[in-house]
Amino acid sequence: MRTICTIVVLVFCSASFFAQTPAVKISINNGVDTVDNDIAAVLHLWKKYLNSNPDSIYDNPYWSKDDKRRYNHFDLLRGTYFDPSIYAMMSYYKPTVLSVSEIEGGFRIRTLFSSHTDSGFAQPLCITEVVAAKEDGDYKLSNALSYNTKSWSKTNVGSITFIHPREHTFDRDLGERMSRFVDSLAMLWNIPVQPVEYYFADRLELVYKALGLDFYIGEGNHARPGGFADTHNRIVYAGGENEWYPHEFVHIYINPLFPNAHGYFLEGYATLLGGHRGKSLSWHLKRMNQYLHDHPDLNLNDLFSFWHMDFTTDPSKVFGGLLCKMAEEKGGLPAVKKLFSFGSSNDDFYRAIEEMFGVKREGLNDFLRSTIAKYAGK
Ligand SMILES: [Zn+2]
Repeated sequence: MRTICTIVVLVFCSASFFAQTPAVKISINNGVDTVDNDIAAVLHLWKKYLNSNPDSIYDNPYWSKDDKRRYNHFDLLRGTYFDPSIYAMMSYYKPTVLSVSEIEGGFRIRTLFSSHTDSGFAQPLCITEVVAAKEDGDYKLSNALSYNTKSWSKTNVGSITFIHPREHTFDRDLGERMSRFVDSLAMLWNIPVQPVEYYFADRLELVYKALGLDFYIGEGNHARPGGFADTHNRIVYAGGENEWYPHEFVHIYINPLFPNAHGYFLEGYATLLGGHRGKSLSWHLKRMNQYLHDHPDLNLNDLFSFWHMDFTTDPSKVFGGLLCKMAEEKGGLPAVKKLFSFGSSNDDFYRAIEEMFGVKREGLNDFLRSTIAKYAGK
């Protein structure tokens, strides 16, 4: 018989930790059989983990040894998609365990991270899945990714392991093109080629569901290419394209070299070399040029207030891409490296434009509009 109850549990590891950070409270959905010994143990483990400072990278006792050996940042959900992390938002998006389901060798825990409006409607952020399986007699957590992709096909080409649903027929020509791109990028930057796992499917949400993001805010809408580079673990996730997805591979290789670079420049360089949403930088420059023509009152001196154009063209990638292209034309790779060196704040960004291109912030609107018009016409 299933026991129906609602539990709000306050779990905590140590008094000293409590003094620094409020404990994470967890709600458990009424339908979860909390009387079952195994399910109770799994829930207890998950609560312990959520209260064990999961944003920190250390030898967390609640996570499986295999994952800790395999990944630098062992919890793949921690920093994928959400910035900086799902767990950093738990004081607002509170966790509710939706279900604990038996699978081969353990259980799958599904958790809703959600807030609510003043009128009580749910404001969900995501639904995550993690696996709990026995290790040396005790349940330990692990990523759902390897469970969810057990039946997916794997093909190695050069340094890349391509992993995709079995229904997809691997395109070796495109795989080799992707591999050659990575080799040439590494040669250009004089850095070593390293193994990368590349998970891809027809739609990005299929890849995120495999990872363990059963729902995430922003999923759905019209299907369009998209991806994410987990630079810590050297994993690329992408959907809507195919074996060829250079943008995220640029991030995998270049971002770790410049941890303090401004995000617009890192996004811009990946777009310059690898396009965005399946289209080249010059395609997006033409769209941006038309948009700016249609919005003459938009003032780009305050560039970061224009952070959203539409769901196809992203200002950070277009402006960043344009500036990287101009730097490269001006001084080759050393100039691009210099662009990355100014720092990550918006003031650093404006300083970079002034020092690299001689344009003060109050002249940015005219400069960007005229330069985009020029490049869009090429
Ligand atoms: Zn990017």
